[in-house]
Amino acid sequence: MNLANIKEAIQARSESRIMPMRRPMMPFEKCPGCDGDLAEKSVEKVLRGGVNTAVLKVCAEVCLRCGEMLYSQETVRRFEQIKAKLERQETGEFQAIGVSYQVA
Ligand SMILES: [Zn+2]
Repeated sequence: MNLANIKEAIQARSESRIMPMRRPMMPFEKCPGCDGDLAEKSVEKVLRGGVNTAVLKVCAEVCLRCGEMLYSQETVRRFEQIKAKLERQETGEFQAIGVSYQVA
């Protein structure tokens, strides 16, 4: 199964449980903090678990007024899983990208 097929499979699966909402995964239409408009963007998220750090690109709804970032439940769950793995040093599946330093 190539990547395109996998993407199609994932799409087909999520489409089968679509609800009559614009974006079923995103519970907010407006920023819950300031009521500003939201725009879907790809953002870089830094996660920490124990002494380890992971950087990943995820989709977020970003408030155009205050910059608040909102993540889908699925993404938040993924963050938790990654943090737990970082804490337990289960980093074999992650790609190492350099060294982290503490300064002062
Ligand atoms: Zn806002």
